[in-house]
Amino acid sequence: MGYSINNIKKTAVLSLAILLPWLAYAEQSHGVTDEKEGGTMKSDTITRNAAAYALPPLPYTENALEPVISAKTIGFHYGKHHKGYVDNLNKLVEGTVFSGPGMTLEKIMTETAGKADKAAIFNNAAQAWNHAFYWKSLVPNGGSEPPAELKKKIEASFGTVEACKKELADAATSQFGSGWAWLVQDGAALKVVKTSNADTPITKGMNPLLAIDVWEHAYYLDYQNRRADHVNSVLDKLINWKFAADNLK
Ligand code: MN
Repeated sequence: MGYSINNIKKTAVLSLAILLPWLAYAEQSHGVTDEKEGGTMKSDTITRNAAAYALPPLPYTENALEPVISAKTIGFHYGKHHKGYVDNLNKLVEGTVFSGPGMTLEKIMTETAGKADKAAIFNNAAQAWNHAFYWKSLVPNGGSEPPAELKKKIEASFGTVEACKKELADAATSQFGSGWAWLVQDGAALKVVKTSNADTPITKGMNPLLAIDVWEHAYYLDYQNRRADHVNSVLDKLINWKFAADNLK
């Protein structure tokens, strides 16, 4: 093999190909050692740790929401769907500005929303965030009465807690195709909004209080096409008003 221009070019390209992943790794490892281990989240912060965005633990066991949501549904929904979004995100952001120190899912969502060339990163970051938020929106033996401060705000905006639940159920059942129903704080008022696919009220300047997932994967194993039955059972028996109250700003 002689030292032709082509061979030198090939060698240079090959060396770069070997070096680049190491450079990316070194850059990623640098400066983030003081980050907390694992992602943290009250309602709105998931920070990347040194290695990757983490799949947050489920706040209860997989069978804790039965009989409204089966362990089988949670097993797939958390273990395959939610984990899939986190894994995809980690692959997509490798070596990009979105894997830098102190980067959060919220920053990724805000910076990529509406950008066609960043759609895959937005979708996986938003779905990673939405699901972490959704698990906390549910609790075994939920439903019943919201805490006093939240109840007062609900009554100011909807009249009654029942009216708020009805609006949430209507949003969840009328969302065409995949998406989410949300109770949000928008300025002084509480509102119900629905979003499609991975979209989130955060990028529209609203503060989410709780979320209901109405992608078919959230209920199909247990309810097949009966989305309304699923949503009404969730609102009556699982909705975590305490979590919603904690998210008030
Ligand atoms: Mn889901």
